[in-house]
Parts: sequence; C-alpha cells; structure tokens
Amino acid sequence: MKRQLLMTPGPTPVPKAIMDKMAEPIIHHRTPEYREIFKSVCADLKTVFKTRNDCCVLTSSGTGAMEASVVNMLSPGDKAIAVRGGKFGERYYDICKAYGVDVIPVDIKWGTAPDPKEIKKILDDNPGIKAVYTELCETSTATVYDIKALGNVIKDYSAIFVVDAISGLAADDLQTDTWNVDIAVSGSQKALMLPPGLSFLSVSEKAWGMAKNSRLPKYYYDLNKYRKSLDQGDTPFTPAITLTIGLKRALEAIKKKGIDNILKECKGMAKQLRNEAEKLGFEIFSKSPSNAVTALKVPAGVDGALLVKAIKTRGITVAGGQAELKGKIIRVSHMGAVTENDITKTVGVLKEALKELNTK
Ligand SMILES: *Cc1c(COP(=O)(O)O)cnc(C)c1O
Repeated sequence: MKRQLLMTPGPTPVPKAIMDKMAEPIIHHRTPEYREIFKSVCADLKTVFKTRNDCCVLTSSGTGAMEASVVNMLSPGDKAIAVRGGKFGERYYDICKAYGVDVIPVDIKWGTAPDPKEIKKILDDNPGIKAVYTELCETSTATVYDIKALGNVIKDYSAIFVVDAISGLAADDLQTDTWNVDIAVSGSQKALMLPPGLSFLSVSEKAWGMAKNSRLPKYYYDLNKYRKSLDQGDTPFTPAITLTIGLKRALEAIKKKGIDNILKECKGMAKQLRNEAEKLGFEIFSKSPSNAVTALKVPAGVDGALLVKAIKTRGITVAGGQAELKGKIIRVSHMGAVTENDITKTVGVLKEALKELNTK
C-alpha cells in the first residue's frame, strides 16, 4: 500500500518538526525543566480555547475528557440534556446513561444543527437541568453547531454548557468565554496536529462551583486533583511527557500563525474542497458545514466502501460514514497540518477514483 496522506478527521498528519521534537530523549516530569514546558502548554491552550479559565490536560483520548465533564459535574439522578445529531452526540448521551444521569436526548436530523429555541423550551419545561452537552463540530456529519446562540440561551439558567470541541477546536471558531461555554473539551489528534493520547478541558468558575456538589464516582478523572497541581506545573499522575513536549511545539506554531489566521485558512480550504467536489458532482451532506471536515454524499450508483478504497489505493486516506451514514458519505478533513495543496491533491484523486468506479 502506498504511503498515506491522512485526510481523515482524526488522526491528522503530524508535521515533521513536531515528530522530531517528540523523538528526543525522555525527561523526568517532576523536574523544573518539565514543569516549565507544562506551564507554557497550559498558558498557550488558553489562547486556542479563547478563555481565561484553567485548562486541564489529561492522558486519554478525547472521550476521557468527555467522561470527565460528566463525572465531575453531576450526581446520580441529575437531569441533563444531550444533543444527538450524530455519533458523538450519542456518545455524550451514552456516557450520561452509563453513570445514571437522567439525560434528555435532543434528537435532530443528522447533518443539521440544534435549534437554540428548542433547547430553551426543554430547559423551561424541565426545571433543575444541570448540564447541556453538545458538539462544536459533530464530526460524524461534518456539521458545525451555533455555539454562540446556544450559549446565549443557556447562560440564563443554572445549567452549565459543555461543548465537545474535539475536532472543532482550532478549525471552527470557538470563543469559550465570550460565548458562555462552561466546559470546552478537546483532544490532541485533530486540529492540534499531534498523535492521539492527550485530551483537554477548559473549566469555568460556574462549572467548578457545580463540581463541589458532584457525587458521581471518579478517581483518575477527578479534575480537582488536576486543578490543585496546575499552579506548580504538575499533574497528579505521570503525564504523557512526550506528547506534552510535542504539544508545546504545536502550540508555538499555532501562536506564531495566530489562531484567527488558522481559522481563516481552514475556512478557505473547506470552501475550496466543497466547490471543487461540487464540480465533480458531489453534494455536500451537511446543512451547516464545518470548517474542520466536509462530508460528501456518495453519488447514486457508486459504492461508498469501494470509493474509499479507490481513494486509498491512490495514497489518500479519507473517512467513510459511521452508523446510519455508512457507505453514504465520505469525510475529508481540512484541519491541522493539512494544506491547500493537500486539498488539490485530494480533489484530483476523487476525480480519478470516481471515474474508475463509474466505468466499471
Ligand atoms: C474524534 C472525536 C471524538 C472522540 O475522540 P477520541 O479521541 O476518539 O476519544 C469525540 N467527539 C468528537 C466531536 C470527535 O471529533
């Protein structure tokens, strides 16, 4: 198999400069040297999250941080809302269920975004809701949600607003503080240009306040432990030292370019991909397309699995659809280290692959 250009919405390509940094000899974490690195990472994360809140760093995939945002906030039987517009919204619902949370699903058509008015109605009809869980980008449908509008509704209630920005952060704009987001969750292997293994949460004062009364079981993901050691540049358990060193390098690159310039680039690449794909006869699946990833409908008469395979044979890995979208869409990422040139290459390969399948 040809060496693959990863155009998947996680993992994404890791630039060589970051790989080289991570190839250096391991250092110990209870040292001034590591603490400096960790402190700088925690400070730079705030810039990317657009927050003044503390950011906790966990050694886990993104789902670990999602779980942390449930078990640290709620108690058994608490009421919460989870927007289910795709695979990852379902995951938030499932995590709540697993811990005995009385979670109200908001089922929306896959590929659409939740209506803030509907969330408001549920909050009004069910007093005492503690948390609203949603995505910034629902990666399974490549749909961006209007977090600003949702935050504007939720801020007037006692509920905290929790946003899974695992794929969206540093691709779709997220103004954590201005948009009244209490917890924003992310992970290392999407727009942050790292391998999988780190997850992040920014936590507001409102959320820390709620955490005080939370009685769900937790140990490894007890965020209070992480918060206590944060000021010293420490973590309660052995951190993923190598990944943190890589993260420092990645955040330096992001800072150098400027987060808003990066968002602009993603927007440009998303447009480029959609325009070119439409010219090839693809339709865009989402009614509210994300700048992190695009979902293209597999044209009628074409086998989705074969299309992904034909693309892969030509050196590019894209993602297929998940669950009900299996075989019906392909997903192409334009976040992280992906360049305009990669998009151009991908479009060329899409064209060839379609041609091959249409002439079979
Ligand atoms: C990738 C992704 C996740 C899952 O993260 P893991 O790192 O696989 O645990 C969750 N939510 C969204 C929106 C994602 O894109």
